[in-house]
Amino acid sequence: MDAILVINAGSSSLKFQIFGLVDGAPVRQVRGQVEGIGTRPRLGAAAADGTALVDQGYAPEEIRDLPAALATTRHWLGTLDGFELRAIGHRVVHGGPDFSGPVLIDAAVLDRLAYLQDLAPLHQPNNLAPIRLAMEINPDVPQVACFDTAFHRGHAMHSDCYALPRALYEEGVRRYGFHGLSYEYISERMREIAPAAGRVIVAHLGSGASMCALHDGRSIESTMGFTALDGLPMGTRPGQLDPGIVLYLIDQRGMSVKEVTDLLYKESGLKGLSGISNDMRDLLASDDPHAGLALDHFVHRCGLSAGMLAAALGGLDAFVFTAGVGENSAAIRARIAERLAWLGAKVDAAANDTGATCISTPASRVGLYVIPTDEELMIARHTLAFIAAPT
Ligand code: ADP
Repeated sequence: MDAILVINAGSSSLKFQIFGLVDGAPVRQVRGQVEGIGTRPRLGAAAADGTALVDQGYAPEEIRDLPAALATTRHWLGTLDGFELRAIGHRVVHGGPDFSGPVLIDAAVLDRLAYLQDLAPLHQPNNLAPIRLAMEINPDVPQVACFDTAFHRGHAMHSDCYALPRALYEEGVRRYGFHGLSYEYISERMREIAPAAGRVIVAHLGSGASMCALHDGRSIESTMGFTALDGLPMGTRPGQLDPGIVLYLIDQRGMSVKEVTDLLYKESGLKGLSGISNDMRDLLASDDPHAGLALDHFVHRCGLSAGMLAAALGGLDAFVFTAGVGENSAAIRARIAERLAWLGAKVDAAANDTGATCISTPASRVGLYVIPTDEELMIARHTLAFIAAPT
């Protein structure tokens, strides 16, 4: 069958999915990943019905970096029968100021994306490595880049800028926002589930976390900004921070750029505050008061951000929970929903406990929803659009 390969490459994991084209629409066939790159590498993949296709561990030196993970994945994909590769869709974190939608990749686009590496030095190089490799080995297979920033590019100028000298804006220092593929998918689902809800906040709460304000399905504001550090506290990132703290760390503590970067990306957030774990499940299961503090802080900041975005929308019709925490933790959903009571939100405890799609009571002025996100399906759809109607 004709197939689209979707790739999401990070520094410690490489995720891939194969979508078959069934009656002209992408239908997931295989979902796989190489995890623990350089530490405890493991290649796993399963068919759409959950049947394991491969589950194999490797020594750290066998898969010590992303290129090695790509080679292993490529080799394994080569053992699969029955798929005719028609296109590859890539998740690319940064599309910079210019890309407000997915783009068919050619040498000029790749140059432009490489130039944007300065804006996302921790992620962009990993996203581009598989594109370069595929260009070399499958030059005839179209590749499409789908950006985490693109969905937010329609923000008004007053929302897109920082109050910094304007030359920095021109140079690319802007409030880009991230998780855009997730929000785009949820926006489409909300059109089916609650078409009358014009003012919607979506809370993408995973190990990375942000919120987005949707007005008539379009993003008008996000809690993330220039980088994916801003906004809500996350597994290992602090979220919104007084920039004076960074100056203090450098000036008074003598920390290097690398040390501050590690502190902000890897040692902060739920992990830093609790001193226990970056995983919400561990904190919910713990009776350590520091775990409780990390949870209280997370819920508090979610409430504050929801208030900010409700102000941007001029009111609120619906609030959506998605991603790992949002989809799976009834306890966290209930606590955040309580913070929305002033907007008229009333949670239906039984519906919330079972993870129903709608978890608000009929009397609630704000519809509360749980909608599993699907960034890979969004990428597959975007990619298909290019091969169905090449530009
Ligand atoms: P990402 O894609 O950003 O890596 P996910 O959206 O998969 O993250 O979310 C992962 C996080 O979801 C985990 O770190 C964990 O904290 C949280 N999570 C998953 N299941 C549960 C659960 N049942 N209860 C609470 N948190 C959960």
